[in-house]
Amino acid sequence: MTLWLLGTHLDRTADYLDEHDHVLLIEATAFADRRPYHPHKLTLVFAAMRRFRDDLRARGLTVDYRRAETFGEGLDDHFDEHPGDDLTMPRPAAHGAEDRLRELVDDRGGRISFVPNPTFVLTPEEFDEWADRRGTSDPDTYRLEDFYRWMRRRSGVLMDGDSPEGGEWNYDEQNRETPPDDWEPPAPPLFEPGETVREVASWVEAEFETFVDTDEAAPFRWPVTRKQSLDALEQFVDARFAAFGPYQDAMVEGEWAMAHSLLSASINLGLLRPMEVIERADRAYEEGDAPINSVEGFVRQVLGWREFVRHVYRRSMPAMAEANQLGQTETLPPAYWTGETEMTCLSEAVEHVRERGYAHHIERLMVLSNFALVYGADPHELNEWFHRGFVDAFHWVTTPNVVGMGSFATDVLSSKPYASSGSYVNRMSDYCSSCPYAVSRDTGEGACPFNSLYWTFLREHEETLRGTGRMGLMYAHVDDKDEAEWTALEERAEAVREMARNGTL
Ligand SMILES: Cc1cc2nc3c(=O)[nH]c(=O)nc-3n(C[C@H](O)[C@H](O)[C@H](O)COP(=O)(O)OP(=O)(O)OC[C@H]3O[C@@H](n4cnc5c(N)ncnc54)[C@H](O)[C@@H]3O)c2cc1C
Ligand code: SF4
Repeated sequence: MTLWLLGTHLDRTADYLDEHDHVLLIEATAFADRRPYHPHKLTLVFAAMRRFRDDLRARGLTVDYRRAETFGEGLDDHFDEHPGDDLTMPRPAAHGAEDRLRELVDDRGGRISFVPNPTFVLTPEEFDEWADRRGTSDPDTYRLEDFYRWMRRRSGVLMDGDSPEGGEWNYDEQNRETPPDDWEPPAPPLFEPGETVREVASWVEAEFETFVDTDEAAPFRWPVTRKQSLDALEQFVDARFAAFGPYQDAMVEGEWAMAHSLLSASINLGLLRPMEVIERADRAYEEGDAPINSVEGFVRQVLGWREFVRHVYRRSMPAMAEANQLGQTETLPPAYWTGETEMTCLSEAVEHVRERGYAHHIERLMVLSNFALVYGADPHELNEWFHRGFVDAFHWVTTPNVVGMGSFATDVLSSKPYASSGSYVNRMSDYCSSCPYAVSRDTGEGACPFNSLYWTFLREHEETLRGTGRMGLMYAHVDDKDEAEWTALEERAEAVREMARNGTL
C-alpha cells in the first residue's frame, strides 16, 4: 500500500500520512515542456516537493522520489519495484485527473483509490448536497452569496449564534477605500532561497522555456515549506491584515502586493489548509488584531469564493473549458506578453506578473481580465495566459476565475460581466494621473483605451447583456448616446484595437 502524492498534496498534517509508511512522489516534467510557465511557478512547485520529501523522510517515512518525464514513466519504475501495488491518493482537483491517473495505474497492473483532499473545506458530496437543495437552475440561489452564508453557518466562523458577527454578512462596502498618498504598505514577506530553491531555480533556468527569462523576473521570494508558509500567514496577520480590508480593491503605482495575504500558492499546494487560515483570521478578530471588514473580506475569499469556484468548476466541466457565450475571438495583444504599453494600469499589472508570477485580485479582475473582455479577447487564450503566468495557477482555479468571472464566457459564476470603463481604475487607483491617456475622454486620440472599448462592448453584446444582472443603469447610458457619439466611439475603439494588435498602445 503506497500513498501517491502530487505536487498539490503537500500537506504534512493530513491524516492519511499516519496510515501509510510508504510515499510515492513523482517529479514529472512533461507539463513544463508543454507550456512556458513562470520560472517562479516551476521553482516553487519542484522545490516544495523536494522539501516535502525531506520533511517526510525526517519523520521516518519511506519516500520514493522519482524524477521522470511523465507520470507513466514514474509509475513504470514504481511498479517494477512494487508489482500490483495498491495506491491511495487525495482526490486531484483538475477535471478528468482521476480517470487519467486510474488508467495509468490500471495499465501497469496496479490499483488506485482516492480519499478526500484536505486542500478544500468541502468534499464534492457536501457541496452537491447544498447545490442540489438550492437547485442550480435558480440563478438567485446558485450564487456565491447564498453559498457563503451557508458556509458561515455550517462552520460557525464569524457567527454570533445564528447571526453574522457584527450584524452584517458582507462588509464589501468597506473594502473599497483607497489609501492616502503617504500610505506605505507593510513589506511583504521574503523567504531567502535556501540550497534546494537555488538548485531548482538554476535547473529550471537551464532546462525549460519559461514565461519570462529568469533574469527578467524579480528574486524568488515564495514560501516553499509548511514552516515558511505558517510564517507568511503570521506575518500577514501581524503586519498586513488590518489594512487588507479597507484597501482590498485598491491599486497603487509601484505596489505589487498592497496588503494582500500572498497565501494562494501555499494553500493551493497544500502547505496551508484553508480552514486553518480561516480560523487564524477568526482568532485575529476575536483578539482585536484586525477589524471586521478585513476579517470578513478574507473569510469570504477563502471560505466562500475559493470553495465555490472549485466546486462550480467541477460541476461545470468540461463545458466550462469550451464556453464562449459572447463569441469573443481576438488574439491577446502582445502587451500581455511583453508588458510594453503606455497604459499605466495594464503595464503595471503585466509587469507584476512578469516579475513574480503574481498580481492581486483587482489587477487580475479589473485590469487584466477587464481589458481582455472589452477588447474582445478569446477567453481561452486569456485562460492559457493566466495559467502560464501565475505561481498559484491550476486548472481548477484559473479556469472558473478567467473563463467565468473574468471573461463572462459562461454565466455560471456571475450574473453580469465584470466590465468597466477607465473610471473604475481611476476610482480605485492612482494610475490615471501618471498615464498618458486621458481617463476623462472617451473618443479621439489620447482617450483612455478602456472607455471606447467598454461602450462598444456593451453595444455589441446588447442582446446577451441588456437583461442580465444589474446592467440596467449601464444600458440607460447606452441609450442616451446619439449616432454621432457612437461613430466616434467606434472609430476610437478600432484605433485602440489596431494599436493593441501592433504593440503600440
Ligand atoms: C481572472 C482571475 C484569475 C485568477 N486566477 C487564480 C489562480 O490561478 N489561482 C488562484 O489561487 N486564484 C486565482 N484567482 C483568485 C484570486 O485573485 C487569487 O486567489 C488571489 O489574488 C491570490 O492572492 P492572495 O493570496 O494575496 O489573495 P488575497 O487577496 O489575500 O485573498 C485571500 C485568499 O482567498 C482565496 N481567493 C480569493 N479569491 C479567490 C477566487 N476568486 N478563487 C479562488 N480563491 C480565491 C485565495 O486562496 C487567496 O489566497 C483569480 C482571480 C481572477 C479574477
Ligand atoms: S487612463 Fe485609462 S489606460 Fe490610463 S491608467 Fe487610467 S484607466 Fe488605465
